[in-house]
Amino acid sequence: MSRFEIGSVSAAPGTLSSGTLVVPARAGDSGTTIPFSVIHGKAPGPVLALIAGTHGSEYVPIIALQRLRTAIDPATLRGTVIMVHVANMPSFLGRTVYYSPVDGQNLNRVFPGKSDGTLSERIAYTITTEVIHRATHVVDLHGGDGNESLRPYSYWITTGDPKVAEQSRAMAIAFGLDHIVVDHGRPTDPAKSSFLSNTAITRGKPGITTENGDRSKVDEEQVALVERGVSGLLMHLGMRDDGPIPLASPVWIERDEVLRAGATGLFYPAVAKGTMVVVGALLGHITDFHGKTLEEIHAPFGGEVLYVVETPPISKGEPVGMVGASAR
Ligand SMILES: [Zn+2]
Repeated sequence: MSRFEIGSVSAAPGTLSSGTLVVPARAGDSGTTIPFSVIHGKAPGPVLALIAGTHGSEYVPIIALQRLRTAIDPATLRGTVIMVHVANMPSFLGRTVYYSPVDGQNLNRVFPGKSDGTLSERIAYTITTEVIHRATHVVDLHGGDGNESLRPYSYWITTGDPKVAEQSRAMAIAFGLDHIVVDHGRPTDPAKSSFLSNTAITRGKPGITTENGDRSKVDEEQVALVERGVSGLLMHLGMRDDGPIPLASPVWIERDEVLRAGATGLFYPAVAKGTMVVVGALLGHITDFHGKTLEEIHAPFGGEVLYVVETPPISKGEPVGMVGASAR
């Protein structure tokens, strides 16, 4: 086994190493850093990238990776695990939802990034070139952002190479969350991959996005689901001998829609995460700042509320929730 090189780290077989990727300053900002760990096994195997904190206020996976970095034994691991602990440091330290406090962009919409772009674009470029290019399998770990009450689920992207899609499907099952959103609509152009996991997929590497946690709370049960999910993946990929048995029959969400605000003001949800709604059911309403109702938002089809915004601020065009159903 040879050493594994990433950033300034050269990891010997059978070791846990720590490092930091540097996104250099450019005119207009002071750059940032991306902390990572590498668990490099003694035997060959896949290179699994686990990336947390793409949205900096989604804490459950960030905390799960803090625990997992010492829970995976490099002496018995086959292959290599790269953990990105906080992909979006400006958002994490700035405590922002969705958007970077530096450039106002959503990091998970600017992939594969640009070497000479905004800070978010340069973070994306660094993750694409330093992490995704070195990986064979990629997981982008998300959760309910500070405003989102969310039930756990994974996204499985079906577009692109069918062999990659099939391997991604198996990863979603191995991760073990009991709802899997079947994502039919992601771009197939590697230069316009937009999303982190889709950046892997458009480069021929299987990948999934996972969602655990509710309104930024560090919930033990959700942290445990992420730890279980990673253990399931390590066994599925042959990197460890034991792990949890994957679910026999997850709920496949074949149809989903993110409902967006048509007005700016205060949002009042009428449903909770996990509520089963009929077509036309009231999901919530928006008022102006003097109490006048501006918009009611209704379910476009019958299904389950996968997440719903539970804090008042809402701007036109932003998500208020997501409904999913198993039938298309
Ligand atoms: Zn997210």
